[in-house]
Order: sequence, then structure tokens, then C-alpha cells
Amino acid sequence: MSASKLEIVEMLRARGDAQEQLFQEARRARAAVRGDVAVLRGVVELTNLCRVNCDYCPMRKDNTATNSIYVLDEEQVMDRARAIHAAGISVVFLQAGEIPRTTRIVGAVIPRIRELFNDEVEILLNLGGKKRSEFAYLKEQGATSYILKHETADPELHLKLRHESLADRLKYMEDLLDLGYKVGTGAIVGLPGQSLEDLADDILLAKRLGVHMSSVAPFVPAPRTPLENHPSGDVDVALNMIAAMRLVEPRWLIPSVSALEKNRPGGQVLGFQAGGNVMTINFSDAEHADRYLIYGKDRFVVRSTHAMETLSRAGLTATRSPFATAAVASGRARPARAASESA
Ligand code: SF4
Repeated sequence: MSASKLEIVEMLRARGDAQEQLFQEARRARAAVRGDVAVLRGVVELTNLCRVNCDYCPMRKDNTATNSIYVLDEEQVMDRARAIHAAGISVVFLQAGEIPRTTRIVGAVIPRIRELFNDEVEILLNLGGKKRSEFAYLKEQGATSYILKHETADPELHLKLRHESLADRLKYMEDLLDLGYKVGTGAIVGLPGQSLEDLADDILLAKRLGVHMSSVAPFVPAPRTPLENHPSGDVDVALNMIAAMRLVEPRWLIPSVSALEKNRPGGQVLGFQAGGNVMTINFSDAEHADRYLIYGKDRFVVRSTHAMETLSRAGLTATRSPFATAAVASGRARPARAASESA
């Protein structure tokens, strides 16, 4: 559906009956394209080291000296990939702070992961901005998709909070799309000075870019960051954004993210009721999950039991095949085995 900025803002304002109607329309759009299914991803967090200094993130460069830094080696990544494989999940999601070293580590493990899964795997990366030649190398090694969230489409706010330009971020995305990656972007709800119009721009930017996945997370104030005293993002606005994204681009993969659960218990069920169709399960081991401070020490870490309960409460079944929409629509998608990672 093509929606104007004004129409999207109206969707973001919806509450009560209007909000429920919005969610119903979003669920209908999801069912029409992909069926009542959610894609499962298994994430491994490679390092909490980052060269960027985002004002909302405890892993920012200024905290490097005080954070308990780790970088997984190839064998540690493979150990976690084996746990994802054992759980019957076929999207291996490798996520990390933005440091050049991840290119080498990830480039080396991708072929090994592909071999482990007998090539029936989606390798999804979220490693931050890199040179085009590095993106190309990772693609040649077997990566298939890449998430690089634009965070906010407001260039001034982006520069103020990330200390890097939105234009540079968009250039990375263009490189990824040009190289043939399936690309995901995403935005944060509740940044200082952000308006509903800005959030509508976030959706319209994602549509204009031609990405395949889009996400939204309510802002989570984290200790030891410049925004630690800023209020949490509005969960209702984030849910309405999920629904609006579903209606604007029904084919998008849209996760129901852990920040929803963090800001409101049961928030991930609501994310699916609003039209989400992706659940990410954390396969980092307990020690490293504790040190990956993306939302602070008490972030909500999604494990398989919570994921399966959430999908069940939302009335969705899990699928292994992230981009096989035809198979899903015709009921041929294979359900994932109950995830049983030890972490
Ligand atoms: Fe680094 Fe990402 Fe945190 Fe920004 S949000 S400081 S890029 S890990």
C-alpha cells in the first residue's frame, strides 16, 4: 500500500479501537503474504567492542575502558552455530559492535557454518559499517543478508546522537543492496526531540531504499550513556510503527524485538499482534550475553522457552525459511524444532 506521511502519522497516533483496527489490518496483510508464521533467527554476539560512540548505547567507544571487553574467536562462534543448528533454526545471525576485526573472523567462519548446515542456512550479519570491499568479501564467503539500521532518518538528530552522518550510513546500505544482500534497516522510537512525523519519515525512507527487512525498537535508557536519564520510548508508538510498516510494505520481515519486552512485559506478543513476523533467539552463552550491554546490564535476553511461549500466545507457528514466502503461503514451510540451546 502506498501511504502518505500524513496517513502514517495518523496510524502512529491510533489508540483504543482505532489501534485494534490498525493491528487487525496489519495481521491480515501479514497473513496474505506469508501466512501466520514467524521466522526464527539464532543470534550470536561476537564482540562488545565498538569504535562508534552512539549516545544511547552502553557499548559506545567512551565506555571501552570500563566495559568487560570480549571478542569471540572462530571456535567459539562455531560452538554457538552448532547450538543453533541443533535447535533446528536455519538463520544464523552474527551480530557485533563495529570493529574492523569482525570482517576476518566472520569471513573465516561463514564457509564452516554453511558446511555445518549443508548450505541450508541464511547467514545474516549485523556488524556495522564497513568498506564496500569488505561487504563484497563477506558476500563471497557466503553471507546472504545484512542489517544496518538507519536509527533515525533525521540527518541532524542522527549526527547528534551517533556522531556519524546519515549520508554515510545510507551509502553503506546502498553498497549492500548493490552487492545483492537482503538488507534490513530499522529505527528507534523515543529519541530526544523526535516527532511522529520523523518516525513516518523512518518508514518512508526504508520503503524508498527498497530494503527487505525493517525493524523498530522503543528507546531503552541505559546507564553510563549520555541519554541515561531520558525517558523510555513509547511502546504503543512502536507497536503502531510495526503495523504501519506491515501495511506500507507487507512483504517485509519485521521483528518483534526484545526492547518491547524490556519496556513492557508481554510486549513481544503485542509486537506480533501488531504484525511482526520475526523472533530472534539469543544463543550467546550466559557469560558473554551478560557482557553484551546493548541496552545495559538488565536487558531482556530472549531464550527459546520465552520465544516459543510468545509465538504460541500470538497464535503463530515458526518457520525455518526466511524468504520462502510462496512455501509459507501454501503451508509447505517446515516448522522449527523446539529450540534447545544450552546457553
Ligand atoms: Fe556501536 Fe551499535 Fe552501540 Fe552504536 S549502537 S555504539 S554502533 S554497538
